[in-house]
Amino acid sequence: MGFKWHIFLLMVICYCQIAEWGYENNGAYKWPIMYPTCGDNLQSPVNINIFLAPTSPRLGRLRFTGYNTPAWLTVKNDGHTALVEVKSNAYIEGGGLHGRYKLTQFHFHWGSDNTRGSEHTINGVPARMEVHLVHYKESLGSFQSAQNFPGGLTVLGILYSGSMTNNGAYNDLVNKLSLVLPPGSTPVALQPQALLSLFPPLVGNYFRYTGSLTTPPCSQSVIWTVFQKTIPIANRQLQSFRQLFSSEKNVMFPVRLQNNYRPTQPLNRRIVESSSFLVF
Ligand SMILES: [Zn+2]
Repeated sequence: MGFKWHIFLLMVICYCQIAEWGYENNGAYKWPIMYPTCGDNLQSPVNINIFLAPTSPRLGRLRFTGYNTPAWLTVKNDGHTALVEVKSNAYIEGGGLHGRYKLTQFHFHWGSDNTRGSEHTINGVPARMEVHLVHYKESLGSFQSAQNFPGGLTVLGILYSGSMTNNGAYNDLVNKLSLVLPPGSTPVALQPQALLSLFPPLVGNYFRYTGSLTTPPCSQSVIWTVFQKTIPIANRQLQSFRQLFSSEKNVMFPVRLQNNYRPTQPLNRRIVESSSFLVF
């Protein structure tokens, strides 16, 4: 009796399908099978109805350290997103947060066309792309340990809107995306760049709620801040994100990394609050 290759291969294929999470074929609806927290009741993203968001005097101005000086950044394609690791020290505090949070990475969610792409929606309408700046509470030491504590992480989300002209602050990032088309390729250094030049809406009004990571394991440890102002980006720049390849495959063929956004989750008993009106 020889080795039963067909059974072995079947086991490998089954294992791959449950071990990998993804977005293809309504993949996000299957996450709770392997990652039960993804089916819990404080999940992200959510729809933000700005007419229902009460203003909270607690939510004053966020304070940024290290955001206005050139930061050392590298970009990679991790198979689910374009992820920029932040090698410099950048922190946020204030704005109703307890303690100081350190920026570790930012990454993007985008669509296959301009009618979708963002994770958070405003009054039911998605934007074409959303960036997430992921911070962990400095006193908890690392992202890995902080993600196990409520309020251990804080993520800043900003949506993108269309523009006829290129957003110059994104030229270097967009160019370097062509060097990380396959998932898992070596990270590429970006030209040092001030974070506030990439994300000017950070100094504006924002919405706040408690939620989760929007990818498995969907840890419910995130204080979310979603900004009201958008970042303009040209279609040809957005197209560079859509050229990346996903870690998912269609049978054997590589697929483009597009629509890597999770559908909005029920708010349940949560309330999305609005910052006090800030004048600059
Ligand atoms: Zn994200």
